[in-house]
Amino acid sequence: MPIRVRFAPSPTGALHIGGARTALYSWLYARSQGGVFILRIEDTDRERSTVDSTHSILRGMEWLGLDWDEGPNIGGNYGPYYQTERLHIYKEFAEQLIKEGKAYSCFCTPEELEKKRKDAAARKEAPKYDNSCRKLSEAEIKSKLEGGISKVIRFMLPPIGETIVHDLIRGDVVFQNEVLDDFVILKSDGFPTYNFACAIDDHLMEISHVIRGDDHLSNTPRQILLFQAFGWKIPKFAHLPMILGKDKTRLSKRHGATSVIDYQAMGYLPEAVLNYIVKLGWGHGDQEIFSRQELIDKFTLKGISKNPAVFDFDKLNWLNGKYIRSILPERLVDLCEPLLIDAYGNHDINYIRKVVLAFHDRLTLIPDIVPLSRYFFTDEFEFDQAAIEKYFKSAENIQLLAILKKQLAELEPFDHSSIEAVFKGLAQELGKKLGEIIHPARLALTGTLQSPPMYDVVEILGKEKVVQRIGKAIKQCIP
Ligand code: GLU
Repeated sequence: MPIRVRFAPSPTGALHIGGARTALYSWLYARSQGGVFILRIEDTDRERSTVDSTHSILRGMEWLGLDWDEGPNIGGNYGPYYQTERLHIYKEFAEQLIKEGKAYSCFCTPEELEKKRKDAAARKEAPKYDNSCRKLSEAEIKSKLEGGISKVIRFMLPPIGETIVHDLIRGDVVFQNEVLDDFVILKSDGFPTYNFACAIDDHLMEISHVIRGDDHLSNTPRQILLFQAFGWKIPKFAHLPMILGKDKTRLSKRHGATSVIDYQAMGYLPEAVLNYIVKLGWGHGDQEIFSRQELIDKFTLKGISKNPAVFDFDKLNWLNGKYIRSILPERLVDLCEPLLIDAYGNHDINYIRKVVLAFHDRLTLIPDIVPLSRYFFTDEFEFDQAAIEKYFKSAENIQLLAILKKQLAELEPFDHSSIEAVFKGLAQELGKKLGEIIHPARLALTGTLQSPPMYDVVEILGKEKVVQRIGKAIKQCIP
């Protein structure tokens, strides 16, 4: 049987980390098996589904590079891929079940159902539908329909027995049918419920593997019962363990985990996020960094853990820094350039390029470039007070800075190797260690003791700025 795997988000919110992981594992499984990856939008929750959420999901997937072979925008042979465009299909299958005596119309009003729930609770019983409309005669049904009473269609649950979910991650999970009830498959407005639409689409789209979060495990017996009622082949299921925040509660906005698209704005690279997400519940030995192709080559459902994973921003940040260091310089420039133009209004692309490249191995998040490179764009930057105490309060250092200023002012050409020669020559001349020259110079030019390599900083800032800043520092030094 061909491998066909779907990701079936409900567009009731943006694509979050949990959804992105489900999408990624489904995509990886399809790609690793030479199968087909399908994107299906489960938009039948009329109140909560929005077009914005759909866009956010599609954009999030595109940003992560999770391309689909069938689905929105591209279509395919099993469409439509929006469930709201498939309502006629669900209706037909509901009618088929009614005809076969496997489903029935239920006319209970929400008030009646509420009362039944309360009565059951008072009797300390599980709040299950009491199947009262199963017993309606043809004539009763006809008269209720003619009376315009609103109805839903309920699935008629097999009376006894159990339903076993053969889960590829958790093993066999047994559900007693008696804990379920005659669940609704078609609502009064003609819209299907999630379980019904999902089962029908998984069958019609010939889905071989259903990979999803384990919050859906309890829905799976209902879907299996529907597959059995139609006599269809049941797909294989793999329910993914939860993702928790550091406090071990289910990951949510509280933990700062926003939508995937927000990670782009926060300055993460898609490959870092992808690499981080894949490790939330899957592993291959103790390998940490995976290229996309390596993931495709190495991914297996067997490698997925049964245990919940913990989302850790520190780890994600570490990975992001690692990925930033590995990207091509031009890509880094493209990512940083708009932020710097926006922050400092400097449009000198050549200058921006040099500054960005000086920080290539110093960024954790892309927007870090803005505060880190401040002294390259403005003279208004803070000085490290402790460093001032240490380096600007000695007559010796003032003299040292004065000589450095003079030599740099006369330096021609003002390039990396001649700048290096000035610093090294000065250290020798004064019988000092190179660091003893570099620290006060760095403080004078950047306000800090940490910056890209000194000669790069001097070269990028240019003679005029360098001489002016050292001069200013000398004036401020009071021994
Ligand atoms: N639409 C469901 C959701 O977004 C997932 C359905 C499924 O994967 O079966 O939670």
